[in-house]
Amino acid sequence: MNGKSIVVLGGGESGVGSAILAVKQGFNVFLSDNGPLQDKHRETLNVYGIEFEENGHTEERILRADEIIKSPGIPDTAPLMQKVRNAGIHVISEIEFAGRYTSAKMICITGSNGKTTTTSLIYHILKSAGLNVGMAGNIGKSFARQVAEEHYEYYVLELSSFQLEGVYDFRADIAVLLNITPDHLDRYDHDMQHYVDAKMRIVRNQRMQDAFIYWVDDPIVTREIEKLQPGATLYPFGEQKKKNSVAYTENGKIIIQAKEREFTMELELLALEGLHNVYNSLASGIVAKLIDISDEQLRISLSDFKGVPHRLEKVATVRGVQYINDSKATNVNSCWYALQSMRAKTVLILGGTDKGNDYREIEELVRTKVRALIFLGKDNRKLHTFFDDKVPLIREAGSMKEAVDTAYQLAEKGDVVLLSPCCASFDLFKNYEDRGDQFRECVRRL
Ligand code: ADP
Repeated sequence: MNGKSIVVLGGGESGVGSAILAVKQGFNVFLSDNGPLQDKHRETLNVYGIEFEENGHTEERILRADEIIKSPGIPDTAPLMQKVRNAGIHVISEIEFAGRYTSAKMICITGSNGKTTTTSLIYHILKSAGLNVGMAGNIGKSFARQVAEEHYEYYVLELSSFQLEGVYDFRADIAVLLNITPDHLDRYDHDMQHYVDAKMRIVRNQRMQDAFIYWVDDPIVTREIEKLQPGATLYPFGEQKKKNSVAYTENGKIIIQAKEREFTMELELLALEGLHNVYNSLASGIVAKLIDISDEQLRISLSDFKGVPHRLEKVATVRGVQYINDSKATNVNSCWYALQSMRAKTVLILGGTDKGNDYREIEELVRTKVRALIFLGKDNRKLHTFFDDKVPLIREAGSMKEAVDTAYQLAEKGDVVLLSPCCASFDLFKNYEDRGDQFRECVRRL
C-alpha cells in the first residue's frame, strides 16, 4: 500500500483496467459508475477484490480522492466533475495513469478518421516483424490492464480526443495525427477549437528525438503546428510531394524517406484500397522505417494486411454486384473517401442519426458515381431535402433487410452496393458494428 487513494470514475473497459493497475501499484482504489456495470466487469472487480459502486456516485467518498481517473465517456460538464474541480482534485485519463508505469515505446495514433485502421496496420507491421508489441487505447483490452498484466516493449495506442483530454505528462515517442475534421462537436459545446486543442495534446512533452507524423494537406493541422511549434521532429506526409514531406506518392508508387535510404512500393500492391488508405499506409510506413523494420518486411505487411471489419470491407459479390460494408463511416468525410475509392457505379445506402451533417461535401461524388440512393433511417427528411432534386433514383428503407433487398433490385451487373451511412446508427441499430453485421448477414442471404 502506498497510502494514496485513487477513485476511478466509469466502470467500462478503461475504468476497470485502471482500477486493476492502481491496485497492483498499491493504491487504495474505489471505482464508481452512475450506471450499471456489465457482468464481466463486475466479476473482474470482484476477482481483484476492488471496491466499487454502480447506479450512482457516493460523492463524499469520491471527493476524498487524492487523484481521479476519469473514463473518456464522462463529459467535463457532468455535475460531479464540477464538484471535483471545485475540490481541486487532479483528474487524469487512463492513458496518463498507465503511461506512468511502463517504459515501453509509445506509438500513438489520433485523428478524426482512420485511427483504428492505422493503429491496426501499424500493429500488424510491428508484430509481423517479430517485435514484442501490444495494441490498446480505443481498441480491445485497455492499455492500463495490459500495463498491469503484460510486458510489452512497444505499444500502439489509438487515442480519441476524449482520451487525450486527460493527459499531462504522458509522452508519445512517435505520434501520428491523421487529420482533423469536425466530429463529436456535441461534446465540445460546438466549439471546433476545443476539439482541435484536445487532438493536438498528442504532441505534448515531445522532444526532438521523438517523431510527429502528420498529414501535410490538412489545413487545421498545419495551422496548429505553426502556432504550437512542437518540439518533436516533424514527418509530414501527403499524396503529392511537397517541400519537407517525407512520404508521398509518385508514378504509381509510395515513397518514404524517413531514414537515409528511400523505401518504395507499388501502390497497386497495398492491401488497403482508396486514397484515405494510401494516407494510412504512408503514415504507417513512416512509423515502420523509424523503428527500423526492414524494407522487405514492411512490403510484406503493407500488402498482406487483412483490413479492419466495417471499414470498406468487401462482403461478397452476388450476381456480378459487389457489396461493401463501410458501416464505420459515421460522418460525411468518411463517406467521401469511400465514394472516392469506388471504381464502378454505386448504389449507396446512407442515413441514420445525423450529427449536423453537411452533405455538400459528397454532392459532386454522388452526382458522378451514384446510380441510386437508399435512405436507411428513422427520419430521412434532411436527406430528402438535400438529394431529391439531385439524384433521380431514391428509395427509403426501414430495416437493413429492406435496404439490401432494394439495393439488389436497383444495382446492375458490374455495380457496387456500398453501405457508407454518413451517420451514427443508434436510431435503428445498437451500434455501427450491429449495422455492419446485419448488412453482411442480409447480403449473404441474397
Ligand atoms: P476511426 O477509428 O478514426 O473512426 P477508422 O479506421 O475506423 O477510423 O475508419 C473510419 C472511416 O473513416 C473509414 O470507413 C473510412 O471511410 C474513413 N477513413 C479512414 N482513414 C481515413 C483517412 N486517413 N482520412 C479520411 N478518412 C479516413
